[in-house]
Amino acid sequence: RLPSVAIVGRPNVGKSTLFNRLVGKKLALVDDRPGVTRDRREGDASLLGLDFRIVDTAGYEDHDAQSLPGRMRLQTEAAVAGADVALFMVDARAGIVPLDEEIARWLRGSTTPIVLVANKAEGRAGEQGILEALALGFGDPVQLSAEHGEGMGDLFEALLPHL
Ligand code: GDP
Ligand code: MG
Repeated sequence: RLPSVAIVGRPNVGKSTLFNRLVGKKLALVDDRPGVTRDRREGDASLLGLDFRIVDTAGYEDHDAQSLPGRMRLQTEAAVAGADVALFMVDARAGIVPLDEEIARWLRGSTTPIVLVANKAEGRAGEQGILEALALGFGDPVQLSAEHGEGMGDLFEALLPHL
């Protein structure tokens, strides 16, 4: 069995962009069964020769605002619990917002190792957000640009001890 990595974080931070980059053309399965599993996508990922299963927590963006926090929490906690390591993604450009802090509280009690990732960190626009991310208490964030493919070596190094 391949080790598995979950990507969690609030909507719009770039989770699916990273998922798509790591899976590339090798997408093995898109699970569209109704219910909870509909909100996750899984694929076979490859990062600098490291092969693993990747889970994108997606879909709760489509639900109405009232059900969103509860669904997001269920999705996030289920994905993290089922993974060997979880990437907790924040948006370096937007900085840390209250929902990031709430997700951090959900993750704090988890036994799955958490790797904090500050995405959209290309250029210098993310410097303040990276400092804010440090305060979440998950250590130094891995600085990434999922869109531009920057920081993949650092992501590899952060994942390697857990896979
Ligand atoms: P998700 O909701 O967390 O899955 O986020 P998406 O992957 O759908 O991305 C949300 C938006 O952020 C999209 O417009 C992406 O093009 C953009 N985005 C993703 N990664 C990056 C990045 O590294 N840098 C920048 N500037 N934008 C990004
Ligand atoms: Mg998405």
